[in-house]
Amino acid sequence: MITRIDSLDISNKKVLVRVDFNVPISDGIILSDFRLRAAFDTINFCLKNSAKIILMSHLGRPKGVDLKLSLYPIFNYLSDKFPNNKILFSDDCISDESFKKTDSMNNGDIHLLENLRYYDEELFNSDSFSQKLSKHGDIYINDAFGTSHRMHASNSAILKYFTSKGIGFLMDRELQYLSKINLDNTANLVLLLGGAKISTKLAMIRYFINKANYILVGGAMSFTFLKASGYKVGKSLIEEDMIKEAAFVLNESKASNTKIILPVDIICAETFSNDARSKCRRISEIEENELGLDIGSDTSKNFINIIKENDTVIWNGPMGAFEMDSFKIGTDILAKGISASTKDNELISIVGGGDTASAVINLGIDSSFTHVSTGGGASLELLSGLKLKLFESWEKYE
Ligand code: AMP
Repeated sequence: MITRIDSLDISNKKVLVRVDFNVPISDGIILSDFRLRAAFDTINFCLKNSAKIILMSHLGRPKGVDLKLSLYPIFNYLSDKFPNNKILFSDDCISDESFKKTDSMNNGDIHLLENLRYYDEELFNSDSFSQKLSKHGDIYINDAFGTSHRMHASNSAILKYFTSKGIGFLMDRELQYLSKINLDNTANLVLLLGGAKISTKLAMIRYFINKANYILVGGAMSFTFLKASGYKVGKSLIEEDMIKEAAFVLNESKASNTKIILPVDIICAETFSNDARSKCRRISEIEENELGLDIGSDTSKNFINIIKENDTVIWNGPMGAFEMDSFKIGTDILAKGISASTKDNELISIVGGGDTASAVINLGIDSSFTHVSTGGGASLELLSGLKLKLFESWEKYE
């Protein structure tokens, strides 16, 4: 069992927290603070319990020092959000100066370290790098769910340098929502899938056959299923090498308790562009020179009705090419419908990270879902029944 932070005595201690502050930043402006806000429970708990907080994270994939991928804008953000606390920043996560700063901290101070991935050693799960990082803390806390499917120095090798260690509230919530689903008797469960590729979600589909009542498929991945069912899909995005696999899964579902439901209508256009003239077509009427870019309104209604009849929905992947305003309607309708049912009918709604999380955050309705995951790859792995590297690391170093 991994300990949660509230079972540890953290007062007057230096608490080194691995957070996931990998947020979109452009020209020094933070475009979404969703992942930053998600870490506040753990930070506030440390503040309430008179600890010194040292925060470390990666940002993007720098090759060595790259100021475009500096965490400095997050230092400004934290200074703004925690005006009553002293906020410190170190431009090198393992410099002598950074250790001196940590040693000079008082209770309630927050020290943000620069991007861990300025050092390649982070990705190599380097022992010596993690040993240096460990000098920042008396206690180690992992609250970075977004990297829990990886073994890196700051979430794996570092564990052996701490006797007092645990996970934060965000990590705990993610594991609760995303793995409780796997264990429970999920009789009234719907899996809503979209996005481009079947290949990345096949393990998840397989895992939920006989667990979910329904698997609803939208997005481009529905065209591979439609083609496997004998429909003509024009120029729509498909995975040619997955057609056989899709046919196999459809067949497998027929002999199971899980119904796979495909779109009945599709928004089609002749080009992949926001300005393209679009038309809603039945799936049997998609023309050769057209590509499907969103689900139609009958499909949205159908999906929402099915979701409403069930207790839990897990959603992973947009219903269309949602980055273009003209083709985000299906995704928005589903997001608003699920959000309303969560409030009205006590539907449990769980949104996997990545694009789907962005879609509900952009609509400003993320707080009305039961849980919106901060981790794309990690939530996909957990929802595919795989064991996260996080657990392997803790078993190794406990
Ligand atoms: P994934 O990473 O597999 O979840 O795919 C997400 C991507 O799928 C997003 O960038 C969407 O724009 C894209 N997508 C979803 N539906 C379609 C579609 N009908 N045609 C083209 N791209 C789509």
